Amino acid sequence: MALRFQNSLSRRKEVFEPLEAGKAGLYTCGPTIYNFAHIGNFRTYIFEDLLKRYLRFRGYEVTHVMNLTDVEDKIIRTCRETGQPLAAITGRYARAFFEDCETLGIDPADHYPAATEHIDDMVAIIRALREKGHTYEANGSIYFRLKSFPGYGRLSHMDLEQLAEGASGRVDSDEYETEDARDFALWKAWSEEDGEVYWETELGKGRPGWHIECSAMAMKYLGPSFDIHCGGVDNMFPHHENEIAQSECATGKPYVKYWLHSAHLVVENKKMSKSLGNFHTLRDLVEKGIDPLAIRWVLLATHYRQPNNFAFDAIDAANQSLSRIRDFRLRLAEVKGPGDDLAEACEACETAFTEALDDDLNISGGLAAVFDFIRDVNKRVDGGLIGADGAKNALALLDKLDSVTGVFAPPTEAEAPQDVIDRVMARQQARRDKDFARADALRDELLAEGWIIEDTPDGPRVKRT
Ligand code: AMP
Ligand code: ZN
Repeated sequence: MALRFQNSLSRRKEVFEPLEAGKAGLYTCGPTIYNFAHIGNFRTYIFEDLLKRYLRFRGYEVTHVMNLTDVEDKIIRTCRETGQPLAAITGRYARAFFEDCETLGIDPADHYPAATEHIDDMVAIIRALREKGHTYEANGSIYFRLKSFPGYGRLSHMDLEQLAEGASGRVDSDEYETEDARDFALWKAWSEEDGEVYWETELGKGRPGWHIECSAMAMKYLGPSFDIHCGGVDNMFPHHENEIAQSECATGKPYVKYWLHSAHLVVENKKMSKSLGNFHTLRDLVEKGIDPLAIRWVLLATHYRQPNNFAFDAIDAANQSLSRIRDFRLRLAEVKGPGDDLAEACEACETAFTEALDDDLNISGGLAAVFDFIRDVNKRVDGGLIGADGAKNALALLDKLDSVTGVFAPPTEAEAPQDVIDRVMARQQARRDKDFARADALRDELLAEGWIIEDTPDGPRVKRT
């Protein structure tokens, strides 16, 4: 079967046929960098990571663009409230975002354009829209006239008439001058509240609206028409509708072929969000001693279009799954001698995994195929049926599938937290000092916490038990 995605535009599963054979242009709405991202945001970013990794696994050459929203109402408010310049705030939180992505094993995008570095591109689109009569000006700001785009509402399946006046989502306080409450600002004239945040352009002194940022950066790096655009489902309207309207009116070309939207990470049936205060940042959880890989597992393992409920017992279950895979790896590493090479079992597992993920990234099906394989191979190891070749093939299969999931790798030394590493070093020192009682006590203490020290010719290595 071919690779299929549920396209929000058609609300159907469609076979993925990229605009250019073998390639995939992917744009994902990035973070607004005025604060730490919470793990709800990371649910979406991990779905997008899975999508990209799977496209690559299926042989597509992917170009992934994720923007950084570094000028926007909430950031400007933060500047005002803290008295800090824009770049100080966005610089700090961009770094934090990249650190968090690395902690969660998210593969970096090919481009991370920042809005403030693409003002000229936004101005060019607004100019084109103005020339084609899609805009009007009020008090120095420039608005997009929704009624000038009959296709509006195609993505969220609402017609213009259904969009009651005043229902245009993120309605900004400075949008009260619009002719129609559904219209949105492309360019916002400077007001005192904006302080130092403005650009002097042919459109006047001001700053871009949020929606135009994404259109400009997507089309700059992927062209006027590209394959896949993603975001959380809350971005569908008005953000993505607005992106379609302004992009298609400016270029006269279809903007995006496949729109994929992830459902939310929820806590007791409510969207995890900063405004509700029901959120965890990644850092909070890691500080509590939670393995980032277990967090990745929880965010990954529910199908992206199903709401994913966050609870600490889900972390426990994820840890158990991780342990099963790690135990399996350790067990295979000890298999020696002749026996079954597992070629058939490996092929069957890879086929089942691929069939599941081909079906709109059915990750639960993919993980189930891997656990079936583990159960089957464990039985055969119990029976002494597996040879060294079989163990090698099974480990190679896990590595191959891990290029998609990012949760099957063996734990590395780098994953041990600093306090564990400190105690391993202290144990080394105790051994050098011939204080074996202390060395053994440290070893036992770490063992009790689930860390095993292996003494190798290259020095000690610490692993999860
Ligand atoms: P924001 O910084 O609010 O623009 O959000 C960045 C990305 O995270 C967007 O794609 C949102 O749709 C997504 N997002 C925000 N909250 C959640 C949540 N609770 N679950 C999943 N995705 C979310
Ligand atoms: Zn966006």
